[in-house]
Amino acid sequence: MPEIFENNITYLKGVGPKKAEILKKELGIAVFGDLLDYFPFRYVDKSKIYKVSEVVNDNTYFQLAGYVTNMVKVGDKRARYITATFTDDTGSIGLVWFRGLQWVVNRFKPMQKYIIFGKPSVFKNRFNFVHPEVEDYDNESFKVSGQRLEGIYSSTEKLKNSGLGTRGISTLIKELLSQCSNKIYETLPDYIISKFNLIDRKKAILNIHFPVNSEIVSHARKRLKFEELLLLQLQILQQKNSLSRKIKGQVFEVVGPVFNDFYNNNLPFKLTGAQKKVIKEIRADIRDGYQMNRLLQGDVGSGKTLVALMCMLISMDNGYQSCIMAPTEILAQQHYNSIKKMLLNMNVQVELLTGSTKKKERDRIHQSLIDGSLHLLIGTHAVIEDTVQFENLGFVVIDEQHRFGVAQRAKLWRKNKIPPHVLVMTATPIPRTLAMTVYGNLEVSIIDELPPGRKPIKTMHFFEKSRLRILGFMREQIKQGRQIYIVYPLISESEKMDLKNLMDGYANMLHDFPMPEYQVSVVHGRMKAADKEYEMQRFVEGKTDIMVSTTVIEVGVDVSNASVMIIENAERFGLSQLHQLRGRVGRGADQSYCLLISGNKLSNEGRKRLEIMVETTDGFKIAEADLQLRGPGDLQGTQQSGVLDLKIASLVHDSKLIVQTRTVAQDILDIDPKLESSENSRLRIQLEQIKKGKQNWGRIS
Ligand code: ADP
Ligand code: MG
Repeated sequence: MPEIFENNITYLKGVGPKKAEILKKELGIAVFGDLLDYFPFRYVDKSKIYKVSEVVNDNTYFQLAGYVTNMVKVGDKRARYITATFTDDTGSIGLVWFRGLQWVVNRFKPMQKYIIFGKPSVFKNRFNFVHPEVEDYDNESFKVSGQRLEGIYSSTEKLKNSGLGTRGISTLIKELLSQCSNKIYETLPDYIISKFNLIDRKKAILNIHFPVNSEIVSHARKRLKFEELLLLQLQILQQKNSLSRKIKGQVFEVVGPVFNDFYNNNLPFKLTGAQKKVIKEIRADIRDGYQMNRLLQGDVGSGKTLVALMCMLISMDNGYQSCIMAPTEILAQQHYNSIKKMLLNMNVQVELLTGSTKKKERDRIHQSLIDGSLHLLIGTHAVIEDTVQFENLGFVVIDEQHRFGVAQRAKLWRKNKIPPHVLVMTATPIPRTLAMTVYGNLEVSIIDELPPGRKPIKTMHFFEKSRLRILGFMREQIKQGRQIYIVYPLISESEKMDLKNLMDGYANMLHDFPMPEYQVSVVHGRMKAADKEYEMQRFVEGKTDIMVSTTVIEVGVDVSNASVMIIENAERFGLSQLHQLRGRVGRGADQSYCLLISGNKLSNEGRKRLEIMVETTDGFKIAEADLQLRGPGDLQGTQQSGVLDLKIASLVHDSKLIVQTRTVAQDILDIDPKLESSENSRLRIQLEQIKKGKQNWGRIS
């Protein structure tokens, strides 16, 4: 990399120590190269002058031409701000300044025409431009035909206060380019550039900042996104290769009698195609001599447990023990029951170990683990305690991964000389493009198909006012022997509030519609674990008709007789949470229902979420929509992974390009894993730069 790009930004004309410090702090711009790579997020056509009557409040910028009148200083002795009126032949809007008031007073002369540029806000039913950019109106410049695109750079309050709004930043970049545009070097191999029809880097950089026309902008953006994503994928893949090659694992060579016996005699139903595919992927992974670290994603009800069980049987066939770790006692118990049932009449020893296992029982289990007579241990956190020792632990399943930390996983590893294979199961689908980036160093298997014959859950959205109808419906369902969940949102973070919300909501409902004839379980976050379990258990056993709870029941509970999920204040939940909650029903043979109840006032986004829920039950579609609505920031895993630091590409909008660059990166590394060939040397140099932290997004790891 030419040294000029490593120059400290203070060496740039127009940047003093103060500006340098703010640039560093607000935007992470420390050297010339950082500024070069700070791209506009959109463009406006400065050749177009709008009329005041055309101004709308939709987050876009407008350029107006007209006169400034009625300038008023507001405030007591010292003016605190200045307002003015801006007028053209179609109407007038307000202008407001809070800073640089003296400058404002001197800037404008009566009867002179100005160009102002900015984004309108609405105050007291009137459009205002706060701190608009101002130019003298020069009739000549608008006679030149054609677009004049100007990049808009995102800025912050602090930057703007230091004269570094979008204009200020643009000026710095112009200065920078005048010094070093002839030093912009190519970063992609020639064969990639020609194969994918990309423009060269210099052209891309010049035009992303100061485009000649809008067509070239899209070429420039494509080229720079491609570069960014290709380097990202190369980095992730290289890291993944080195990681997975580092840790030796047990070799599970055979699929033997236990697995076959189960497959031929005990398999309760035909495997779905997706289950078969995933088992195949896992089998290939556990016999190659390296430790498996795999994420198994599958929508709620897609049959992950069965896949896990069959893998553990392979482990047993190879002489190893296995264990499943679940986040709660109820879930562990459920796995235990269903696995016991599936293994009926087979010679497989299974035990359940949780916090409430009695001492005598516990000792017996510990013993059987050490002497190897126990094949399969199912439990909660209890299984990672130091007192739990295995003879030979070979395969670990972690259910609903987000409740287990990395440290806990590591603890499991230490239970054997060679670490066991690890399968992490999660029902929170994230779009594949994101998964391959966020979980870069985990292999990912996806069950993208539900077992046949499921009756799709009927989802409906009601407003408060339909409460009476909803109640009638509940009565009807209970009369038919069904059970019902009612879930209240956690409105505030505090558990105290959580309880209050639930109690208030539920009390209000009972007040209006008493239902003394029904048995009710209540579960909330503030209860002691044992009480929670007790209440849940009553519901699981069918002793209660209604389960009133906060979102604590979100994960995994399986009560096949429960066929109605009522979600109160549904507009307050995120999409993936709604989907998880809905997944609690639809597990039995009966038609299931999900009733989303909301207040009458809905935000656009809230309405959209409820619409999506009514429209589809496909977890991946919902995850996609969630990503579109919220961006990746809230998705699990994205925070730490640093993929949010992308400079130009978007994980939300560029999924095609992500997939494409993934394939390209894979192809490159297949032939040249260390990028040693001369044709790939540019890529190698770029990656080295990134590793040295010379580029911002080198932080990704
Ligand atoms: P999840 O992926 O949510 O953990 P489970 O493993 O709990 O799903 O499976 C959900 C239900 O589907 C269980 O009752 C299970 O017995 C059933 N199931 C699993 N696989 C199949 C299949 N191939 N055909 C029919 N039913 C299946
Ligand atoms: Mg499950």
